[in-house]
Amino acid sequence: RPPVERPRGTRVVVIANQKGGVGKTTSSVNLAASLAQLGQRVLVIDLDPQGNASTALNVDHRRGTPSTYDMLVDGVPLEEVVTQSPEHDLLWVCPATIDLAGAEIELVSVVARESRLRKAIQAHPWVGGAEAGEDRYDYVIVDCPPSLGLLTLNALVAGEEMLIPIQAEYYALEGLGQLLETVELVRANLNQHLRISAILITMYDARTRLSSGVADEVRAHFGDQVLGTTIPRSVRVSEAPSYAQTVMTYDPASPGALSYLEAAREFAFRGVER
Ligand code: ADP
Ligand code: MG
Repeated sequence: RPPVERPRGTRVVVIANQKGGVGKTTSSVNLAASLAQLGQRVLVIDLDPQGNASTALNVDHRRGTPSTYDMLVDGVPLEEVVTQSPEHDLLWVCPATIDLAGAEIELVSVVARESRLRKAIQAHPWVGGAEAGEDRYDYVIVDCPPSLGLLTLNALVAGEEMLIPIQAEYYALEGLGQLLETVELVRANLNQHLRISAILITMYDARTRLSSGVADEVRAHFGDQVLGTTIPRSVRVSEAPSYAQTVMTYDPASPGALSYLEAAREFAFRGVER
């Protein structure tokens, strides 16, 4: 297998889908851990007040911990809230505390409320091209909450790339129209560079016709935007967070872990091709 090279500059990847439970957080943390295993320097920004990504990456996110809230609402520099994840030495996290639930409202009256995250990310000394030096983050992965509010909007303004997880289940495509419309609005008004760089089919169950039917439908709709690798439904994947781990360390040989590693490799190469 060819080695995965570091990209020329930081790739800011937004993992979004306003539907809950489709695998945003699971994909954020496992792709991040996989990219770190592939030698990439990765920062995960937890943008969901539930803090599930922070939990899976085993970083403190009790109230009072420096967090995404402090960065977005109070303008604390990102590097002051980022902490290293014990999961991997190339993996860092900006944790979310429950305070973030209030940010959706509190941000409404803040100046340039939709570009707070973008500013914070771009001001981080480890973000950018060659000028950022060796310590540069190769990937900033933003785990969005299940809504299309001001938090997700901040993510769409901050990123150039979007990865949409789609669960291989009934109603998988329901609500996607609204998401795509939002992306178009953001492109037209706030961030012309935003593009959907990948769609990832999650919780695929090879034993059911339903799963393969949904996967076919998603591929018919989105063509080669869909990653070739699908993530199987697997108990090991869902167990890992309760051990404050990603499946990449909890059970690295499991089908879920191998699929995330393959999806990460595919995603990394896509960035190089384009
Ligand atoms: P979201 O962040 O979109 O709300 P999550 O990543 O939290 O979704 O996933 C929703 C639920 O599905 C969680 O309980 C998670 O553990 C479980 N889950 C996600 N991916 C898989 C998978 N491949 N196999 C089994 N369970 C999964
Ligand atoms: Mg989530």
